[in-house]
Amino acid sequence: MTNRPDSAGSTATVAFDPTERTWVTDTANDTSFAAAPPLDGELLVDEAARHAVATDLGNITTRVPCAVLRPRSAQDIAAMVRFCATHGIPVSTRGAAHTTLGQGLSAGLLIENRSLNRIHSLGPDTAEVDAGILWQDLVDTAFAHSPRLTPPAITGYTSLTVGGTLSVGGLGGLVGALRTGLQVDHVRELEVVTGTGTIERCSPERKPDLFEAVLGGLGQCGIITKAVIDLVPAKERARTYVLGYTDNAAFFQDMNTLIERPEIDHVYAELYPQGTEPSHKLYATTFYDPATPPRNYDPTTPPGEYDPTTPPEDTVATAGLTTEPVVDDTGYLDYVHSIDRLVDGMRETVEWDRLRKPWYDVWLSGAVMQDYVAEVHDTLTPRDIGPYGISLIYPQRRDRITRPLPPLPEANGSPWVYVLDINTVSETPEADPAFVDEMLDRNDRLFARARDEYGAVLYPIGSLRFTPADWRAHYGDRWEAFQAAKNRYDPGAVLTPGPGIFQDG
Ligand SMILES: Cc1cc2nc3c(=O)[nH]c(=O)nc-3n(C[C@H](O)[C@H](O)[C@H](O)COP(=O)(O)OP(=O)(O)OC[C@H]3O[C@@H](n4cnc5c(N)ncnc54)[C@H](O)[C@@H]3O)c2cc1C
Repeated sequence: MTNRPDSAGSTATVAFDPTERTWVTDTANDTSFAAAPPLDGELLVDEAARHAVATDLGNITTRVPCAVLRPRSAQDIAAMVRFCATHGIPVSTRGAAHTTLGQGLSAGLLIENRSLNRIHSLGPDTAEVDAGILWQDLVDTAFAHSPRLTPPAITGYTSLTVGGTLSVGGLGGLVGALRTGLQVDHVRELEVVTGTGTIERCSPERKPDLFEAVLGGLGQCGIITKAVIDLVPAKERARTYVLGYTDNAAFFQDMNTLIERPEIDHVYAELYPQGTEPSHKLYATTFYDPATPPRNYDPTTPPGEYDPTTPPEDTVATAGLTTEPVVDDTGYLDYVHSIDRLVDGMRETVEWDRLRKPWYDVWLSGAVMQDYVAEVHDTLTPRDIGPYGISLIYPQRRDRITRPLPPLPEANGSPWVYVLDINTVSETPEADPAFVDEMLDRNDRLFARARDEYGAVLYPIGSLRFTPADWRAHYGDRWEAFQAAKNRYDPGAVLTPGPGIFQDG
């Protein structure tokens, strides 16, 4: 049942029963029920719609919402948030729902934001988009633009929404991590619906407290409905040097060389369980246009002697490394969609969406990374990763990360900061019940030690069971400003209860 006009033009009303705290579809003119506001989109209260959005990619936490909104406009979201704030109904927004411990779930209203997915403008150096659009769609459209454009930071998997990754931080998993900052560093302006149901535009100049509390703010202070995002010229091709290691020290020696090398645009790495060879793999990529000279091109070379299809000089890009790379040269979009193809394949073959994913994701300073990886790698068993999981490392220049959120670890003298992921995935959807508990306990144990011994900070996409006190410690000296923004923009504390950040006030 919806409150959208039906084909006959009449309106089926959905109302909230404030006494029973349930939604009703047959109000029989009972005025004790509060009718939901008129909407352009749909408000669904049927079992199928509610159960379809009761979990996320982690398949660990389940919360069945009492109603689902498929908005057609920011006004729909604003009207329903006002309604929910009046009746004390919690509200969560769902992008692609790829967090893994119920961060975007709610027993109240669930907003399915994917229905707002338009590109409002594109070029020459920005795009204004709805927050429910997938990065994939923005990337493809920007690349098809003339001249070719791209967001400067693109997540490894691109079937994620702009609103979702801007709410967690958005690390450039395949494009941009090294020197561009996070996706939140490339937002010029946002349209946001606050917890009072007010539609606001905010930017570094306009309502900066709201802007800073929403970017990387886990949906606590507002629902992002539109974003103005930086675009930069896109290169045509990606040339990746793939290097394998069995030794942690050699791996870090080469990583430290590659991340400082101007010819290299992006670096990430994979860690494999104990007993696997190689145990570490590095991927260093340079983006280039075949028609323009490589960056290490000698300008004194006479034009006739320069081959315009020459890719970057491999010898320069990989000089002084401890091992020989394998070279993988592809088109830019092929490179950007490589993880999408992998995930799409698993979706078809192993029920990827239903597998359990108790993920561990942390930030660490470059000062401790080598020691931490050596320690963690000693504990990694095949069960810790699973046949469809992966463990990843992303280095990035700390000074390019400019927003107050998400919080980062202390620098400890290093200009580099890393994300380390242990993206554990169960072998089957029906993983033995002990599996998830075992991995959540592992995450608790790993995190406590990483925080206490190495100064690690959570990257909140994964499965760490944080208490309100843990969250307060997580935000550290940013807590006061974050809490002030919460009190100001969501005074009824209805927005995004999933992470439990403000549970005790
Ligand atoms: C295969 C894979 C690869 C990944 N690679 C990367 C990577 O390279 N870099 C990286 O940073 N992350 C990566 N992630 C993690 C990803 O960023 C998070 O899972 C993020 O939550 C995904 O966006 P989403 O659209 O699924 O958001 P959701 O999970 O739907 O939402 C995330 C949180 O934000 C809230 N939210 C959602 N939309 C809005 C909105 N419009 N306004 C306010 N709050 C909102 C939700 O309630 C939830 O709390 C990856 C995940 C997967 C599965």
